[in-house]
Formats: sequence, C-alpha cells, structure tokens
Amino acid sequence: MEDIQRVLFTDEEIARRVKEIGRQITKDYQGKDLVLVGILKGAIIFFSDLVRQIDTPLHMDFMAVSSYSESHESSGVVRILKDLDVSIEGRDVLIVEDIVDTGLTLAYLKEILQSRKPMSIRVASLLDKPERRQVNLQPDYLGFSIPDVFVVGYGLDFAEQYRYLPYVGVLAPQAYE
Ligand code: 5GP
Repeated sequence: MEDIQRVLFTDEEIARRVKEIGRQITKDYQGKDLVLVGILKGAIIFFSDLVRQIDTPLHMDFMAVSSYSESHESSGVVRILKDLDVSIEGRDVLIVEDIVDTGLTLAYLKEILQSRKPMSIRVASLLDKPERRQVNLQPDYLGFSIPDVFVVGYGLDFAEQYRYLPYVGVLAPQAYE
C-alpha cells in the first residue's frame, strides 16, 4: 500500500499482544459483571479481536462520540452520537479505545460514564501517544506506546480510509497533502 510510509505493528505482532491483554483481563475480571464498551468506529477491530481472547462472561456495548471541535485537535468536549443501550450502574466497565492521544476525549467520556455510578471504570487502548498527553490519564491495558506520528489501519482511519488494513502503519505525507 503506497500511502503507508512504514508498518509499525504487523498483524502477527498485534495478535500476540491482544492475546496477552485478553489473558490479563480474564484474570482481573473473574466473577465480575464486566461490560466492554467499544468506542466507534476506530476501536471495532481491536474490540472484536480482544473479546475473543477474554475467557470470562461479558456484555458488549458501543458508544459513538464526536469532538465538538472543527479542527483535528481534540477539544475535550465530546458529543454523544450513540449512547449505551444498557445501564452500567454497579457494573464493571472497560472502555475499549483505539488510541489515546491528548487524553481529552477519554477523560470526558470517563466523567460522563462515572456519573452513571458504575462499580469501576478502566480503559483498554490499542495504542498510546504519551508525548501528546494533556491530562493525567493512563490506559489500564495497553497494546503499544508510539511516538507522535499519525497512524492508520487496524480500525484507525484518515478521512474514513485505511480502516481495513490488517496492520498499523504511519501514513505517508503525500496521502494527506
Ligand atoms: P484525544 O482526545 O486523546 O486527543 O483523541 C483521541 C482520538 O483522536 C482517537 O480516538 C482517534 O480517533 C484520534 N487520533 C489520535 N491520534 C491518531 C492517529 O495517529 N491516527 C488516527 N487515525 N487517529 C488518531
């Protein structure tokens, strides 16, 4: 794929890491009332691979959010486009995200969900860009840390393209110029 400058994580590397995260989640959530909340659309590939590596009962639900900001920069104010179907009161929520960048989106989302009185809220993210963080928020389960580059594939898009790629790669400058 000529729009990809370099592959950061192959499908095999991702699969191996997802298996490890699934094993850890299985251990941590034994006997709990686990609700996995996938954030559309970026997290769907990670979500669908991850649930199949978790061996303890869970419920799946989804939210779609969009930033109020017009620019590419996260504003920290998110609009809920699709809310959860189920109540999370007294339940153990695990948010499944594609990537934590500034952290503003997740911080806001956690605040919204916290007000619904769950037993616990944690975050599983495939990727993390710690250099860009603006709030104090670390994913509880993390696939890979990456530098400040724009990545696509394995669910992540640029203008709704490249989500289907089986790997995570750095988008070549000519693809967005
Ligand atoms: P935050 O509020 O943490 O800055 O924004 C996180 C969101 O920004 C992610 O869920 C994702 O939609 C988007 N994002 C941040 N960095 C990247 C990136 O490198 N590639 C893609 N495709 N999306 C990104």
